[in-house]
Amino acid sequence: MNNQNFSPYQAMTVNLQLYKVMFETSSEAMVITDDQARIVDINPAFCKITGYKKEEVLGKNPKILSSGLQDRHFYQQMWEQINSHHYWQGELWNKRKNGEIFPVWQTINQVISNNTVKHYISVFSDISKFKEAEEKLWKLAHFDSLTGLANRNLLDIKLRQQFANADQKPHYNALLFIDLDDFKRINDSLGHKVGDQFLIQVAQRLKQLFRSDDIIARIGGDEFVVLLNNMADNQRETVDQVSRIAIKLLDSMKLPIEIASHQLHLSCSIGITLFNDDSKNSDQVLKEADTAMYEAKHNGKNNFSFFYDQLQQEADKRLTLEKELYEALQQDQFEVLYQLQFNSNQQIMGCEALIRWRHPEKGLISPADFIPIAEQTGLITDIGEQVLIKACRQWVSWQHAGLHIPHLSINISSRQFIDNDFTEKIKAIIQCTGVDANCITLEITESLLFYHIQSSIEKINQLRELGLRFSIDDFGTGYSSLSYLSRLPIDQLKIDRSFVLNLNKSAPDLAIVDTIIAMAKHLHLEVVAEGVETEVQLQQLQQCGCDCFQGFYFARPQPAQDIFHPLESTS
Ligand code: C2E
Ligand code: MG
Ligand code: MG
Repeated sequence: MNNQNFSPYQAMTVNLQLYKVMFETSSEAMVITDDQARIVDINPAFCKITGYKKEEVLGKNPKILSSGLQDRHFYQQMWEQINSHHYWQGELWNKRKNGEIFPVWQTINQVISNNTVKHYISVFSDISKFKEAEEKLWKLAHFDSLTGLANRNLLDIKLRQQFANADQKPHYNALLFIDLDDFKRINDSLGHKVGDQFLIQVAQRLKQLFRSDDIIARIGGDEFVVLLNNMADNQRETVDQVSRIAIKLLDSMKLPIEIASHQLHLSCSIGITLFNDDSKNSDQVLKEADTAMYEAKHNGKNNFSFFYDQLQQEADKRLTLEKELYEALQQDQFEVLYQLQFNSNQQIMGCEALIRWRHPEKGLISPADFIPIAEQTGLITDIGEQVLIKACRQWVSWQHAGLHIPHLSINISSRQFIDNDFTEKIKAIIQCTGVDANCITLEITESLLFYHIQSSIEKINQLRELGLRFSIDDFGTGYSSLSYLSRLPIDQLKIDRSFVLNLNKSAPDLAIVDTIIAMAKHLHLEVVAEGVETEVQLQQLQQCGCDCFQGFYFARPQPAQDIFHPLESTS
């Protein structure tokens, strides 16, 4: 506005008119008080926002809008700022005439003339909408949309707060990492909708079990984390307290959950770590609790486990091994040894292919040390395929050299067997190696059949049509379900080494072996005894009617070129 053409009096009049229009039409509430904070004027927006009429507030103190949500300390600081800087700006909660509390963004200016305070002018706007949007955004960003529990972000914030306050409180905190056991089974068999309902009910159970100031979060599919603050001030007592809580949690999880007429039972595994200072960070405690949770799973699930440093070392070792296993596959570091099997007349009946990992630095590594990890990571599918190809090629090259092995047994891991394209892969391998399918026996374990009985039977039947035989490995250590066994289209049972080991010392073991052999005969199955190390064991097995023997007494696992010199041991 250019007021050069006006006299000072005219300019003032124009300005005043403009200010009046602004005052009257502003969408922000405006309040003018005298130096004693008595309201002398308000604008229409004030009436609209607060619900008060002008005559109701004139002469009153703006405290009539006070919501009571700010404490004395807040107002004290506000006035200190106004008196020192003649200005204050901030967010606070006010109260409308109808009692409704609402958030405002407010500015207060002190008007000074001749060094004396003449007026206060306050301007504020209702920021409820903005707050609602902010809250919605916060909810979306910090809460799990399925269960309403905190999510990983919020958990992270709460953990950071704990670490920031760690030096003020000597008390321990506990972090529980909870993973549902075999949750995938529910999702796979009953669908994701039922799975989601199940997770919602688990979340409700957790809410009932813990205090309202404990933080309960869902950080992944079936992974929950609980942060318990302010436990005891010494480690032993905290361990006791948390153990009791973990037991209660395990018990509560065991109760069936009913969804859409399904009674579902599930357990969980819990990993726990404790912390009471700021020497750790949130990533680290989560990793520790996660590691402990794996230990609980490893110990048979439906269990809890505390984190300790050694566990971490093992987890690190495992990670390295995982990485190296992957490289081993790329660099063809796997070898196959062969262990012969004999009949009672000491004639060769067949041989078993047994994998070894020739590690560039650690030397020969036994399958017991890497097969479980290969199974967990899924690498077993590729590793198993390599063994199949190598062993079948070997059988063909023996054949070409005039050495006939009636049966070549190859171990198949469950994970490998349940793959959808397993049958196709076997067909391709038979075709490309030229092996005689009638000479191949696939060794599988009972646990596999227990969980996937129907599909396993179908798959076994398809492969048997090609000529392949099937054997149940390590029989006696798993479920050993006789009714299952009778339904399975298999050809052979391998009695686990642990029973053979104590044959001459343990009457129950002898009885078990005797029963297994009798039952196998009844089902017309061939029986192979594993781990035969002595003449005595051999005789006892023969007396029980065992057909076939494998063990150091006859031959060790050997490289392909050495197997026809069985008694020279190399491995
Ligand atoms: P398994 O299939 O039961 O194989 C027999 C194991 O017993 C072999 O151990 C063999 O070396 C050992 N053994 C044989 N006779 C005797 C004996 O008289 N005394 C003793 N103490 N041990 C004997 P290995 O080669 O260490 O293999 C261990 C397990 O690793 C195998 O048990 C099998 O479950 C698994 N495995 C081996 N190769 C493969 C493979 O290519 N694929 C898969 N998925 N698993 C494999
Ligand atoms: Mg085997
Ligand atoms: Mg075995």
